Amino acid sequence: VAAALLSDHPEETSLRIGSLELHRLGQLLPAQIASGQFHCSRHIYPVGYLATRIYWSCRYTAVRCRYLCRIDEREGAPEFSVTVSETGHPDESFTSDTCDGVWRPLLTRIHKLRSSAGLINMFPDHITGEDLYGLTEPNILRAVESLPGLDVLKDYAFRFGRMQLIPEMPLAINPTGCARSEPKMRTYFCKSHALQTVSSARGHPSQSAASHPHHHTHLAHHHQPDSLAQSAAPYSKQYSHSKSSQYKRLRTEWQQNVYLGRSRIQGLGLFATRDLEKHSMVIEYIGEVIRNEIANKREKLYESQNRGIYMFRLDDDWIVDATICGGPARYINHSCQPNCSAEVVDVDRGRKIIILANRRVKKGEELTYDYKFDFEDSGSKIPCLCGAPHCRKWMN
Ligand SMILES: [Zn+2]
Repeated sequence: VAAALLSDHPEETSLRIGSLELHRLGQLLPAQIASGQFHCSRHIYPVGYLATRIYWSCRYTAVRCRYLCRIDEREGAPEFSVTVSETGHPDESFTSDTCDGVWRPLLTRIHKLRSSAGLINMFPDHITGEDLYGLTEPNILRAVESLPGLDVLKDYAFRFGRMQLIPEMPLAINPTGCARSEPKMRTYFCKSHALQTVSSARGHPSQSAASHPHHHTHLAHHHQPDSLAQSAAPYSKQYSHSKSSQYKRLRTEWQQNVYLGRSRIQGLGLFATRDLEKHSMVIEYIGEVIRNEIANKREKLYESQNRGIYMFRLDDDWIVDATICGGPARYINHSCQPNCSAEVVDVDRGRKIIILANRRVKKGEELTYDYKFDFEDSGSKIPCLCGAPHCRKWMN
């Protein structure tokens, strides 16, 4: 179920449970979780949630119709809307700031209709808006509770527990690197930023964040590869040869190195499926290689879509955008004492971001690398949750 729900495409991934059809599970970004507005002690309301309930008509006694239920964000709080579709009538929409509030007038109408027709009451007093939304349905609840970042909630009573392993990697990636053939994937956290100033490997200033004024609404920064400086220097022929043969092997074998699971650090994380040797290539950070200007535009678009943003700066001009067409490497969390490092490696005809083990990594260990955010005037400090003995406490 979790795997099916991680997709972004409502049409393709509808999950049918009785009279409910779930189109999209939605998600909560860190700021939404921290605000406390999107959950109570009994329910969680993911933004973007979309489901169709087949339920009794408000107009005809023996007829059922479709109620499209959705959760959006409005001014920092959830907004619930239900659209009624009934043959022969125009669609009718209802909106409320509570889940029960949006369904109550509909339930009252159905109740009145049925009692005037002398039919038995269908206990509308006991059925809640959350029930009709499907939020109390066990399969959906289990998936909602395992959404990244929610494990920190202290005032919510988990029914299924906060740290679940996702048994199968919900992301099949196409290691050919052909963006269009890769499936779309859901994103959760902004781990990177298109607008960060990166000190140039060649010693001149890069595109400055100041020339693109922006507002931070999420955690959003660029990862920086370790070897940004080194990558500009020529590799010896021997070295580049061994790198490219290693890379060739990586493209077919990376799936044997990693699995996706609930992280101890935050949300989802990537773990070692087998012991990994020091300096071995673990996985490629795959995405679409785009220019700064495109990255800036996309960042705004993604934010407006309430997506997490996953971008990795390749150099001064180019950024790897893993937000839509990315691989599981984007789920690797930051640590101040990481077991991996990210390096830009020149292989074949391109520059690739490769995650390498920087020591021997034991099977089952969570993989981490140092994101190396280097903000100077960042408006918001991001606390580090890596838990390493020498944690720097802040990620930027
Ligand atoms: Zn740390």
